[in-house]
Amino acid sequence: MAREAAGPDRDELGEVLRLVSTEAERYLAELDDSRVRMAEADEAAESVGGDLPEKGNGAVAALTELLGHSAGLIASSGPRYFHFVTGGVTPAALGADWLATAVDQNNGDWGGAPLTAQLEAVSIRWLLDLFGLPTGWGGVLTTGATMANFVGLAAARRWWGLRQGVDIDEQGFAGLPRARVFASGYVHPSDTKALAMLGLGRDGVEQLSADPAGRLDLAALDTELRALGGEPSIVIASAGEVNAGDFDPVDAMADLANEHGAWLHVDGAFGLFAAVSPRTAHLSAGIEKADSVIADGHKWLNVPYDCGFAFVRDPTLSGPTFALNAAYLPSPDDPHPGFFSKGPESSRRARSLAVWATLRAYGRAGYREIIERHLDLAQRLAARVDAAPDLERLGDVPLNIVCFRYRPPDVPEERLDELNRQVAAAVIEDGRVIFGSTVYEGRVAFRPAIVNWRTREEDVDLIVDVTREVGARVGASLLSAER
Ligand SMILES: *Cc1c(COP(=O)(O)O)cnc(C)c1O
Repeated sequence: MAREAAGPDRDELGEVLRLVSTEAERYLAELDDSRVRMAEADEAAESVGGDLPEKGNGAVAALTELLGHSAGLIASSGPRYFHFVTGGVTPAALGADWLATAVDQNNGDWGGAPLTAQLEAVSIRWLLDLFGLPTGWGGVLTTGATMANFVGLAAARRWWGLRQGVDIDEQGFAGLPRARVFASGYVHPSDTKALAMLGLGRDGVEQLSADPAGRLDLAALDTELRALGGEPSIVIASAGEVNAGDFDPVDAMADLANEHGAWLHVDGAFGLFAAVSPRTAHLSAGIEKADSVIADGHKWLNVPYDCGFAFVRDPTLSGPTFALNAAYLPSPDDPHPGFFSKGPESSRRARSLAVWATLRAYGRAGYREIIERHLDLAQRLAARVDAAPDLERLGDVPLNIVCFRYRPPDVPEERLDELNRQVAAAVIEDGRVIFGSTVYEGRVAFRPAIVNWRTREEDVDLIVDVTREVGARVGASLLSAER
């Protein structure tokens, strides 16, 4: 049927929504048992191309065409994707996120979006409660943990400047010396990226590691802070590092920071959820003594991309960095919550719908159940790795990540890195299950992370089965190539 107008047509909407709803329902129904990566994924992705059309084909045809490329999708929201500590999407979050697009609110200020602003304020309060943080802290939803780290460290930067009589947000660094920033070897690259974006310098972090895994040398931190004699500095604690799910000693770091007058920022992108279960709450103990704490939404909360949270003990430290002043904007004294002046974005998507809806739907008990199931699954995986003669576990499993490598008895140690690199690539190629590789204590290793509410025992078992099967094949060809 020929379309009259070149541009959008109201009458297309019903059909578009039905088409997407039907296809999404089918996709999600198959998600639990589908391959994580289709063999033709790259081809399907690369088949999208061509020039900007002079005349479009209309919404229904465009979406039908889009669906035709779906082999290029990775089932990363499914139960067998264990890479990057990636979560899935709960039904409540998915419905609410669809709604966020349908109603398309600009969740910047109360006047422009009162309901979604209130939902964000309530979500922040609920999240503080969920993690055991004081409910008087300030908070804001961000696009992810990287921007949440940016918000937390921006408050740290402001505090650090004010301690030396400089308002960095107004005047820039104005001849200040370089800030001293301390962390363990666990520090996440998004923290250093945030420091780069803040002008504090990517390589400014002094890593005080006690061992090859990167564990904090607490005595060295004490020595460094003591030597500063009360000069302001910034300490970054990792509540959950990405190789083995280990934690910096947050509680002890908080005490040191308080004693020596340093700012403590806690990156708990996924690890903050340890606070939700009594089984793991000891790992994140002390976060309430920090100055800024962050977590991701699109990881263990299982809301869709893109979503993170930043919490700051003293909310007045965030305002000046992110202030947006113009005669046409609401006054900073507006008593209603407005979020365009609490974080880096001004116009912003209503992420609050998905966060509020999933917390409303499942509550504290629902999240505790998800997390504890994942703790059990991680222990199951660790036990299966330990029982396999050709697998070697490389670290303890305090949370939801199991770090291990393929280690058949007939391959010498000096060949294991190469073998494991090849196995990692072959597992991705295989596509039944996906997990990443890393270097842990100098050895190439795998680090599947269990974060998706859908993940079941059989999915976790597949990690072991596929690694051993693919490993045997790759190992045989590696050794035969040498003979
Ligand atoms: C994933 C992660 C980040 C970065 O999160 P994004 O949501 O990708 O920005 C930061 N810190 C830690 C510890 C992480 O695991």
